[in-house]
Amino acid sequence: MPSRLESRTDWYNLKVNLGLPSLVGLRRDEIQTELQNSGLVAEKEARMRAAQISRWIYQKAAAEFLEMKDVPASLREALAAKFTISPLQVERHLRSSDDVDKLLVHRGDGDVYECVLLPYENRVSCCLSSQVGCPMGCKFCATGIGGFTRNLDAGEILAQYLMLQRLSPRRVGHVVFMGMGEPLLNFEALLKALALLHDEVGLSYRHITVSTVGIVPKIKELTKTGLPIHLALSLHSPFDRVRDTFMPVNKRWPVAEVVGAMKDHARKTGRKITIEYLLIDRLTDSLDQAAELAKLVKGTPSVVNLIPFNYVMTDEGFRRPEVGRVRSFRRELESRGVNVTQRVERGHDIAAACGQLAGEHQGRFARRESTSALPLASA
Ligand code: SAH
Ligand code: SF4
Repeated sequence: MPSRLESRTDWYNLKVNLGLPSLVGLRRDEIQTELQNSGLVAEKEARMRAAQISRWIYQKAAAEFLEMKDVPASLREALAAKFTISPLQVERHLRSSDDVDKLLVHRGDGDVYECVLLPYENRVSCCLSSQVGCPMGCKFCATGIGGFTRNLDAGEILAQYLMLQRLSPRRVGHVVFMGMGEPLLNFEALLKALALLHDEVGLSYRHITVSTVGIVPKIKELTKTGLPIHLALSLHSPFDRVRDTFMPVNKRWPVAEVVGAMKDHARKTGRKITIEYLLIDRLTDSLDQAAELAKLVKGTPSVVNLIPFNYVMTDEGFRRPEVGRVRSFRRELESRGVNVTQRVERGHDIAAACGQLAGEHQGRFARRESTSALPLASA
């Protein structure tokens, strides 16, 4: 692990040939196979070179083969002619007044999505997208309102992490899948991305959070893998009659079923679960919902994370509750012994809410040549 990662932004302007196969997203053994098949490396050397290259890519967040100092110059050049490292380019970079960086990225096909770097005093976290858009149609969510385009592959997921790591002078030790998309609907790529983050980047599974809207069969499958990742459920109301009205998923897997699957996950993995709870004025913030929520989580190691609604224009005219109503809801939970946190809100001035920025951007994004150099992304 490098002791110090320089903050680098020069890679924005690299002329990357997005038409070449990229190495980000491949496991070390897959990189070895690529090297062998390319004919650039002798068979007996391939294993050692794959180990070096994967270290540069995943642990040092290298943007170019040129950076790989312990790889012979001739091989670096030959590799650069056949492969790219990352499949992604930065379309836009925004930095908020409170030091949140948001990147809008793409692989040259017009599908833009976003990832966010969140530095805290004691750690640095990042928020990654798993899909371009989302098919789940939650009515409060900019991503959901924009509809679904496609799944991201493991390379596109890892590349987000690595780009953010390049921006961060400190190690990005935490990952949350709370960007665009429903990670459990992109299960295979998610599992591969989790394995790469753990095996190649070196992150602890315990520092990775997967947030789901509640795809019950996939929660069960995740539980079966035994991976000690942190699972969060976007519940947003304990009542079917309320949840039904703004989260279509609830008609398929209602509250009791999804909360049951989450509790089972907690029991089998020994990991605390998080219940995310969106506070929408007069819809989800009533005290009877707080009381019911407390009943639901009772006896399960859990934390309820309150998220006051971030403004998105909706047909329903959803609004954020006043501070006093948020406080009352929180007190009601706490008085019933629930562990409560409240999402620390950051990055307001760069539209850090899920999918907002990419949504804004999609319409304006002109399909570009895959090899074009980018302007230094604007802040
Ligand atoms: N699809 C997954 C993960 C991505 S959304 C999920 O739904 O859990 C990440 C979180 O952002 C979810 O808890 C989601 O409910 C929340 N979110 C979406 N739109 C929001 C908004 N307008 N204001 C606040 N939180 C929002
Ligand atoms: Fe999709 Fe999550 Fe947004 Fe719902 S909240 S539409 S599941 S991204």
